Amino acid sequence: MTSICIIGGGPAGIMAAIFASKNPENKISIFDKGIILNTILPTGGGRCNLAYAEYNFKELAKFYPRGEKFLYSVFSKFATGDTLEFFNSIGIQTYTQDDMRIFPVSDSSKDVKQALLKQIDKKNIKKVFENVIEVKKTGNCFKVTTDKNTYSFDSVVIATGGRGTGQKLAESLGHNIIPLKPALSSLITKEKSYTVLSGISLKNIEAQVFFENKKVKTLSGDLLFTHTGVSGPVVYKISSYCAYLGFDKTKPLKISFNLVNKDFEEFDTEFLSCLKAGAQKDAANILSEFLPKNLSYKIVENLKINTGTKAGQMTKIERGKISKTVTDFVLHAQDVTKGEEIVTAGGVDLNQIDSKTMQSKIVEGLYFCGEVIDVDGLTGGFNLQNSWSTGYIAGNALKQKAS
Ligand SMILES: Cc1cc2nc3c(=O)[nH]c(=O)nc-3n(C[C@H](O)[C@H](O)[C@H](O)COP(=O)(O)OP(=O)(O)OC[C@H]3O[C@@H](n4cnc5c(N)ncnc54)[C@H](O)[C@@H]3O)c2cc1C
Repeated sequence: MTSICIIGGGPAGIMAAIFASKNPENKISIFDKGIILNTILPTGGGRCNLAYAEYNFKELAKFYPRGEKFLYSVFSKFATGDTLEFFNSIGIQTYTQDDMRIFPVSDSSKDVKQALLKQIDKKNIKKVFENVIEVKKTGNCFKVTTDKNTYSFDSVVIATGGRGTGQKLAESLGHNIIPLKPALSSLITKEKSYTVLSGISLKNIEAQVFFENKKVKTLSGDLLFTHTGVSGPVVYKISSYCAYLGFDKTKPLKISFNLVNKDFEEFDTEFLSCLKAGAQKDAANILSEFLPKNLSYKIVENLKINTGTKAGQMTKIERGKISKTVTDFVLHAQDVTKGEEIVTAGGVDLNQIDSKTMQSKIVEGLYFCGEVIDVDGLTGGFNLQNSWSTGYIAGNALKQKAS
């Protein structure tokens, strides 16, 4: 018999438990300070975006700003196809949206939670609802201390997610922790006048990001205005790739959005012909043919052009200012919206983890999986994929170890 303690009953810990339990010699206990698998409930807006339809594992790994190389080895063993097969085998059928994101057919994260829990209950895995505060190793034995008791185990899996508790346990066992930073966050902008447009969104916008006068990246995705700045997929990508730049009020990120997906010349020419065709209309109204109405009027107002100016009366200079603004719409991000991040960048240093087993290279018998490690992906199902894959690798290694 090998006794295994899994700290954290999120997607990664549960996956590790399910696969480790395939060896009847393993006696498994899952410790969770909250409710097992509750972290899956809000995923995908309650629909659980559990994977992304990229079936080439090297291509899949490119969606992770941190962890790409490490995940080559992980995904070569368990990637998108394996995830879908696994869920199929436990009664969760899936479908792929046009944007390649994969969801359960029921569109319900509750169903995913129930199906996983059923696997745990079937295997008679013990659930302990206690907060683990210390892990020590003496000889071949781990002492796991919670807020209530101390237990002994042969192996320990730390799967506590991105919030920091597991990283502290790992640090106390001698591991290096890459500083934790919020990623996949909304951004707070210096420009406040656009916050009245909160709720307005634009499809597939290109954004060029600059920091300290250097171009950082060009990214694209939907953009959403919020009451403090901007959000949406393109902004999540920006926050993720810029997580470690240290931007703030004094050194903001400069982001140039192309709101019309046309270059200046192309837009200006089209705008001019629309202005000519609708000479009697308000020029701001003509701009609404390209952008949401409230945004069009706000842009014209911010440029100090009278919103009542008729299209036929608009000067070349005024038109040029509008064309420049919509093709190079600059906002300055001063911070991320604290506490609302979807994922945490940073975690247990990947150099100290064997990607073939997820075992620590420093402490034998100690394993890591999920967001606790220094891996984070973009939005699209990549973070759950990391949990399924690394959870599987850890669980499978523990299954084999006992045999
Ligand atoms: C709102 C929201 C929506 C998201 N949507 C998606 C999505 O659609 N697709 C996607 O791929 N990703 C999504 N994510 C990210 C994804 O949910 C996480 O990456 C994933 O849950 C990480 O899994 P994990 O098992 O590593 O950690 P977690 O899910 O964080 O689970 C960790 C568990 O450990 C327990 N725990 C922590 N510390 C201790 C301790 N000391 N003792 C005992 N127990 C402890 C916690 O209670 C928790 O149950 C979303 C995240 C958020 C916040």
